[in-house]
Amino acid sequence: MYLKTLHVRQFRNYQDQKIEFTAAKTILVGNNAQGKSNLLEAVELLATLRSHRMARDRDLIKDGEAIAQINATLERAAGISDLTLTLRRNARRTVAINGETVRRQMDFLGVINAVEFSSLDLELVRGSPEGRRNWLDTLLIQLEPVYAHILQQYHQVLRQRNACLKRSQELGVKSQNSELAIWDAQLVTAGTRVIIRRDRAIQKLTPIAAAWHARISGSTEVLKINYAPNVPLEKNHPEAVQQAFLAKIQQRTLAELHRGITLVGPHRDEVELIINQTPARQYGSQGQQRTLVLALKLAELQLIEEVVNEPPLLLLDDVLAELDPSRQNQLLEAIQDRFQTLITTTHLGSFEQDWLKSSQILYVKAGE
Ligand code: ATP
Ligand code: MG
Repeated sequence: MYLKTLHVRQFRNYQDQKIEFTAAKTILVGNNAQGKSNLLEAVELLATLRSHRMARDRDLIKDGEAIAQINATLERAAGISDLTLTLRRNARRTVAINGETVRRQMDFLGVINAVEFSSLDLELVRGSPEGRRNWLDTLLIQLEPVYAHILQQYHQVLRQRNACLKRSQELGVKSQNSELAIWDAQLVTAGTRVIIRRDRAIQKLTPIAAAWHARISGSTEVLKINYAPNVPLEKNHPEAVQQAFLAKIQQRTLAELHRGITLVGPHRDEVELIINQTPARQYGSQGQQRTLVLALKLAELQLIEEVVNEPPLLLLDDVLAELDPSRQNQLLEAIQDRFQTLITTTHLGSFEQDWLKSSQILYVKAGE
């Protein structure tokens, strides 16, 4: 797939900027705080309707404005699409394809596929389980857009069940509540769909990531990605998972009523990254952790390409300079001209001459 144009209006620090992409690689160069990452974020939003920086819509809209708009034209094997995301300060966001408003998010997702790699991704190794869940969910949304809907349903039930627990708490823990049983059943149904898909994605991703990791580290290090669901997943079978889920809820209901929150379910899942049988968080030097994240990102690219049958875009936010020359080369070799790539940097000095010659270079200054 090829991103031909990007047009941002009143988005972040941009007033009205149109960009035409003329090469497989585009380097966005400029000083700090000029708007380089903002452009990658705009593309990421079109691809996933999410932002790496976890920004709220009102943060994405230019200060003092009520509406922001991101528009892009994309060429795929199936033809050219025109995509628009409109963000509003006081109303919900809307999306349109070829000028027609699309009601369901999942019909918009998956038109553009993109993998973003930024220094924030190092948190995948060191940071909280929530960061790893978000990473996995964002990947899943691209592999099967219906997952966005499944996840949304789960979080909706979770909110309602939490509200019900809170009410019971106020009435006194002892007053068992028949409404809760209704939410239990819904939580189990919605949650099992999440668990099964997360498990499936990790199973597909693991061998690809392990192969990249072995290649980049050039050694006998063995990477394992272990999905550790909060609900035991002995057999990857929906009914078995539902049973285990319900049993665990029943064990924990008293504690839940005490605390007024749901303690069981995929909102508490973990994804363990393990190198040579040791958790990577404890194991790795910064360089090793970088190798691991690079392997994960390359695996994402490859897996999305396999599933959607077209190479996704690659968004590299300031990471090239952080990699040593050998890892840089691994990455550049993997990309070649296969993946359209947008790269941000504060200086062109870290690029090979060949790269500079074959890239489109855009200078970014104060939102222009
Ligand atoms: P760095 O090299 O430091 O990563 P960058 O060029 O990637 O810099 P961006 O993150 O793209 O910088 O842009 C940051 C700029 O955008 C900052 O000046 C920030 O104040 C501005 N900005 C962010 N959100 C908004 C907004 N909603 N309205 C106006 N300006 C904004
Ligand atoms: Mg930046």
